[in-house]
Amino acid sequence: MIKLMNKKIIIANWKMNPNSLKLAEKLFTDIAKNISDAKSEIVICPPFLYLSKFKKMSHKIKLGAQNCSYEESGAFTGEISAEMLYDIGARYVILGHSERRSFGETNEDINKKIKTALSSGLIPILCIGEKERNENHEYFNIVKIQILECLNGVKKDFISKIIIAYEPIWSISTTPGRRDANGDDFYEMNVFIRKILSDKFGVKNKMPKIIYGGSVNPKNADEFLKEKNSDGVLVGNASLSSEKFLKIINITEGIS
Ligand code: PEP
Repeated sequence: MIKLMNKKIIIANWKMNPNSLKLAEKLFTDIAKNISDAKSEIVICPPFLYLSKFKKMSHKIKLGAQNCSYEESGAFTGEISAEMLYDIGARYVILGHSERRSFGETNEDINKKIKTALSSGLIPILCIGEKERNENHEYFNIVKIQILECLNGVKKDFISKIIIAYEPIWSISTTPGRRDANGDDFYEMNVFIRKILSDKFGVKNKMPKIIYGGSVNPKNADEFLKEKNSDGVLVGNASLSSEKFLKIINITEGIS
């Protein structure tokens, strides 16, 4: 497993885009050729199919997948294992994304995927976040349950290797009627996540990276990056524009 450096991380989630290898290569190259001096950790999570193509295209950009099976191998038609992903060059894997949870993925499934990913050498990027907020503050409990169930039985030494992406669903760019989150929303949840991890796993000095995701763009990125305890951002829609993604990288460089 690669060592997580003490620097900010910017992760691109391309989701099911772009629609051709040619376009994907162009997007990747446009980013890669402009980041030679970057000190931040830059990770691109393209669709599975493009991973092997990108493997040798940049030393600066690390590759991640958007999902993996919790099974190691065998008769699981259509699935892709964590070991296959590592072998093809991925070093990260997004797990528990709200779009996958909406297909029925449970905290229990995600927990199994996290364990398989870790034992295959991949760094899991665990996505958590509530659908909506109300004045009863139930969202704290939702996030707490997600963390405790998704990390159930994960050994303390592995906790610091995981990246936790707080992605409130109400702020994701494709959520109908979405609202903007702000730096305070992230800060408050960041403190809460740290408290849960410290109480449950006793990882006070070895916290995982905690990052923010949800409509991050060049206009609001600094708000989430400069928050105390912010370790970076997960970028969806804006990562499909090399210009916007490079601007976010530049903003990160200025803050790190
Ligand atoms: C996401 O869904 O992981 C995400 C960060 O999307 P967006 O930036 O488009 O809200």
